[in-house]
Amino acid sequence: MINIRNRPAADEFELSLFGPGVGECVVVHLGQGEWLVVDSCIDRETRKPVALDYFDKLGLNPAEAVRLVIVTHWHDDHIGGASAVAKAATRADIVCSAALNCKEFQTVLGVTAVPYMRGAGVDEMTQIFELLLDRRSSNRLDITPVWAKAHTRLYQTVAGSVEALSPSDATFSRFLQEIASLLPGVGATARRAVKNTPNETAIAIWIEAGEIRALLGSDLEKGDTGVTGWQAVVNSTRRPQGRARLLKVAHHGSDGADEPRVWSDMLEPQPLAVLTPFRRSWLPRETDLERIASQAGQAFCTALPRPTRPARRAPTVEKLVRRVAPDLREVVGPMGHVRIRIKRGASTPSIERRGPAFQLRHP
Ligand SMILES: [Zn+2]
Repeated sequence: MINIRNRPAADEFELSLFGPGVGECVVVHLGQGEWLVVDSCIDRETRKPVALDYFDKLGLNPAEAVRLVIVTHWHDDHIGGASAVAKAATRADIVCSAALNCKEFQTVLGVTAVPYMRGAGVDEMTQIFELLLDRRSSNRLDITPVWAKAHTRLYQTVAGSVEALSPSDATFSRFLQEIASLLPGVGATARRAVKNTPNETAIAIWIEAGEIRALLGSDLEKGDTGVTGWQAVVNSTRRPQGRARLLKVAHHGSDGADEPRVWSDMLEPQPLAVLTPFRRSWLPRETDLERIASQAGQAFCTALPRPTRPARRAPTVEKLVRRVAPDLREVVGPMGHVRIRIKRGASTPSIERRGPAFQLRHP
């Protein structure tokens, strides 16, 4: 029985994936006490960002431990509590995608979006940018988010390195064209801009720590041409050339995010795959689970893909629920956690599951 509160050794790589049904957060220990947090979601029991909860359990101070906070894209299921994580990680660089949409661009400029446009996404974003402004006024003038696109080196120490694989230059160009079409004078003459889909702007991440390599797929999808999405990543001659042993499956296992050449060209045979569900769209589907399990050596998901029956309540409440909403299902349930640790030089990883996390069956 392995204790969740045990910290990894200095030479031990860790990838922890959290997801409660809707929501995703990845916590990585590169080694040497250097951690990064990719995306964020809230644990409904503690009402705190799960990454901060986890550092609490490990007895770590995020201000000292966390070197990078990466927001892969501004979708609600990836940014719940992200500003609180950024706030606690006072030494960390905060990384965002260089490709935005118009609404996000307005937030960066400080133009408050019209109220009906505001959602959790924009609010977390506003708070993160206000936080950066606060930090700047208090001590340093050079504080800015790190704007990531393909081939941006995000981190490099003796412990390891982190590199962005997306968004592609074509996706970034589309963002610039979208903004240009809004400019007075240019707008009338600009060719009609092709708008990016939000998942096209997501940051996929390549991590190396010694001989261990991990590919975090974010929500990046295949892309509509060879120069966007995963197609652009695989086609790039500038991407890291090694093969990853660990994969955070892209976009909750959806078919539209599964580029076969990622498996054949960027991953070791039989990699270890982890994913979170997105129960609002019933992702991953049964066929997705089968496809992933057949390609991975082992694969784990943090929670069931379909909404589940809530835990039993007091008998009177239970009776009422059964009468008025017999089919009540939860989209966000208890937090699932898959933790993978690999010692440098060791061949077998240790894999732990907590909460509703489960292993995919080989078809
Ligand atoms: Zn998502």
